[in-house]
Amino acid sequence: TESTLQKIISHAKEYGFVFPSSEIYDGLAAVYDYGQYGVELKNNLKALWWKAMTQLNENIVGVDAAIFMHPLTWKASGHVDGFSDPMIDNKDSKKRYRADVLIEDKAAEYEKAGDENRGQDLRNRLARLLEANDLEGVRNLILEEKIVCPVSGTANWTDVRQFNLMFSTQMGAVAEDADTIYLRPETAQGIFVNFLNVQKTGRMKIPFGIAQIGKAFRNEVVARQFIFRMREFEQMEMQFFVRPGTQQQWYEYWKETRRKWHEALGLPAAKLKWHVHEKLAFYADAAVDIEYEFPFGFKEIEGIHSRTNHDLSKHQEYSKKKQQYFDNDLDENGKPYGNYIPYVVETSVGADRLFLAVLSNAYTEDEGVDAEGNPKTRIFLKLHPAIAPVKAAIFPLMRKDGLPEKAKAILDDLRYDFNVIYEERDAIGKRYTRQDLIGTPFCIAVDYQTMEDDTVTIRYRDTTEQKRVHIRELRSIIGEEVSF
Ligand code: ATP
Repeated sequence: TESTLQKIISHAKEYGFVFPSSEIYDGLAAVYDYGQYGVELKNNLKALWWKAMTQLNENIVGVDAAIFMHPLTWKASGHVDGFSDPMIDNKDSKKRYRADVLIEDKAAEYEKAGDENRGQDLRNRLARLLEANDLEGVRNLILEEKIVCPVSGTANWTDVRQFNLMFSTQMGAVAEDADTIYLRPETAQGIFVNFLNVQKTGRMKIPFGIAQIGKAFRNEVVARQFIFRMREFEQMEMQFFVRPGTQQQWYEYWKETRRKWHEALGLPAAKLKWHVHEKLAFYADAAVDIEYEFPFGFKEIEGIHSRTNHDLSKHQEYSKKKQQYFDNDLDENGKPYGNYIPYVVETSVGADRLFLAVLSNAYTEDEGVDAEGNPKTRIFLKLHPAIAPVKAAIFPLMRKDGLPEKAKAILDDLRYDFNVIYEERDAIGKRYTRQDLIGTPFCIAVDYQTMEDDTVTIRYRDTTEQKRVHIRELRSIIGEEVSF
């Protein structure tokens, strides 16, 4: 529900995961900063993805392309002409809306009121109008449905216009030379334009993939749902280049592989589902989204797309540079497959959406009782230890008698392998609570017995169970759990 989302947003802010951007100036819509624990969690997600792609697949390598690209890139990719949303302005409030979203919200309203047919009918009409690019028809539908601006309450609308989602800026110091360039709206094109560079210098043989993690920018107009839809975000994309005719098999392979990866991260199978695209881009031959059940419903976290040779062909056309691969493997007639423009299967996941999915899934309210037997809710983040920002927190029971020194020695011994922290302030119960709130899987307490026999208590976040173990066992206990 929305209130669960609110709790997660507040938790993320209060415990140093996500802050609104430039908050002291009241923030910037749909732009967010990651705080001290958020950056650790996000880096862990990115590192695991990178490892799953590059380290675990000998035929996948990475690149880190620039955010700025030659403007023709975005002509070739279709973004200059086609990457837009239909917008409408309310003349009274001067507020701008996505026309399609206004209609979808209306359809959802009908459905919520039990009128499924009317809702579905409205969605179908909208889909037909968008397909025909009939913007006047979209406006008429808004008028017909008497949709009003949520701010002014009036139906005094402008025409519907297409609004490009790319941010543009000028390159060059002199205005006359200035050339409009764009902040990339996806990372994929940085991979396509480097296809031959990587193939040749890496002596890559098809099938092979190129992976990239990086920022992307979209001037999203419906900016709601926290970090689900941002104007500056991060993508983790992999383009897998294959021989024409084998794309279906690779599409199935990546579809399954990627879903399993999300499950391995701890996202429950029941909260993941496929959304197969029925309406495909004209060049695509299959597309599916992996959706996660967020507090606001099932929504896309990753897309897997079979894109044919569309992107490379377009780059060949615009750059006038051949984008071909010579395949010397033999076909069934014993002849080399020869030259062709490879087909591509893409996997594309948003780091921020994935972050929100794992955070939503981890947020746990456990109904328990306090020492006096009164009901008490324990809040903790049940994060997979591999992605938890802090792996272990080390506490001396008292701030005297050599306990702090002993605890710090353990810290120094573990800190090269794991992100561990030391905390001596406040009562021990309070220290445990703080670590629960940021999802630390282990707390290690040093007490008087430690001084005698080198044993400590280790407390497990999910169960609050405590065990006495020897200091020399810590590395393997933690190491075992945080491995992925
Ligand atoms: P949506 O339909 O939700 O706008 P999309 O289909 O446009 O998403 P893609 O272009 O396929 O998204 O981008 C691939 C991935 O990038 C998405 O699955 C999502 O995880 C992420 N992503 C896209 N747009 C945003 C955004 N504005 N904020 C955060 N993540 C995003």
